[in-house]
Amino acid sequence: MNDNVRVRFAPSPTGTLHIGGVRTALFNWLFARHHGGKFILRVEDTDVSRSTEESIEEILTAMKWLGLHWDEGPFKQMERQELYKEKVELLLKKGNAYRCYCTPDELDLRRQEAQKKGLKPKYDGTCRNRNDRPEGVPFVIRFKTPPDGTVTVHDLLRGKIAFDNQEMDDLIIQRTDGTPTYNFVVVVDDADMGITHVIRGDDHLSNTPRQALLYEALEVAQPKFAHISMILGADKARLSKRHGATSVLAYRDMGYLPQAVINYLVRLGWSHGDQEIFTQEELIRHFSLENITTSAAVFNPEKLLWLNQEYIKNTPPLELSEHWEPILVKEGILSEGHGLSMEAIARPISSLNQRATTLVEMAQKSEFYFKTELEFDEKARAKFLTPETKPHLEMLIASLANLNDFSETEVEKIFKDIIEQADIKLGKLAQPVRIALTGKKESPGIYEVLHLLGKDVSISRLNSAIDWIDAP
Ligand code: GLU
Repeated sequence: MNDNVRVRFAPSPTGTLHIGGVRTALFNWLFARHHGGKFILRVEDTDVSRSTEESIEEILTAMKWLGLHWDEGPFKQMERQELYKEKVELLLKKGNAYRCYCTPDELDLRRQEAQKKGLKPKYDGTCRNRNDRPEGVPFVIRFKTPPDGTVTVHDLLRGKIAFDNQEMDDLIIQRTDGTPTYNFVVVVDDADMGITHVIRGDDHLSNTPRQALLYEALEVAQPKFAHISMILGADKARLSKRHGATSVLAYRDMGYLPQAVINYLVRLGWSHGDQEIFTQEELIRHFSLENITTSAAVFNPEKLLWLNQEYIKNTPPLELSEHWEPILVKEGILSEGHGLSMEAIARPISSLNQRATTLVEMAQKSEFYFKTELEFDEKARAKFLTPETKPHLEMLIASLANLNDFSETEVEKIFKDIIEQADIKLGKLAQPVRIALTGKKESPGIYEVLHLLGKDVSISRLNSAIDWIDAP
């Protein structure tokens, strides 16, 4: 336990919350929970042209859906501009930053010249020692990178990484319009929020040395870093839409359970022996950075589907119904404002959850429980609901009407009696009944269906079947 641990998830709200982002959030969240520390949510919205409110909303919705609750925030960087201005002033005063008046055209020209001479195209330092402040001329503010020496970053997963200062440009920390830039605000915020561990994707590894220099200049201690590897598709290219859905809410809408998504993502790059299925409590107990691998993780949609099926099977129906209800509404099986209790929604689950891979599939198979108007498989209706089956259905109605205990066992007894009396095979009775009650040729076990629909609905549907036989 180290309750001083403070970590953050810092998404840029420029689109949907990507599966890879969720894994970063999850590792941070688990690390905080394991240590009894704090998990902070910070929205990095300084790229004003690409950030949207809609995306922020989506990120928050996704985090809540996944159960990744934050202890502080959500902070938005656009609301923290005063702090960044103050720190820019501080660096200017300390001589760690300077105003640069070079125009884009001038910079272009010098870059081309440097390239011609085979030099690395970086800022040539023209304004570094300039003391005048020309009136009305636009300027950026640059960070003064030490001209030589190295900067070292200790990555908890990758060890010590040293970078040559010479390789680094004089980073722009404030644009001409006065807005601060990404690497600068990340450092100011991480320092201000007392972040102890930065756990993020290794696509940020190249930013880390610049950030390390900024920590030095701001005279604050670096946090510890852990750069996790990217998630790749089966073709080893970085996971993108080409490989299937990447937005986590798309998985919600496809009928995945948040626990299955979490369980799947945690195993992408982290392991605990060869255990595959974890309760949340187990994840929190076992999670450690030491067991994260630095090799790239490959996204496997079949495994995610398998885990989802496991979770659907093993989640108690009442709990499952909380996730199922919105799907039933979205699939048009229940109407908005249906007024059904969670208990009523949970009732048919035990007959549907053993084979379904997604909640959508489970919803599609549940139509006959919830809808008053059945949608019939017309071919099957014509085949099985015939004058020949009518007397059997009538016998069944008569017996069911006398039944007080509408349990599966009692219903089964009635079926047995009828097939014996009528001297027919079970299918001859069960199949017409199935069509009459569900509209389809396939359904959960017929006794279970009768029991779940209850006496009144079952008898009324059987009567409608007889009416239809009389007047198809
Ligand atoms: N905003 C950055 C991103 O979405 C994350 C920055 C960080 O974690 O340091 O990629």
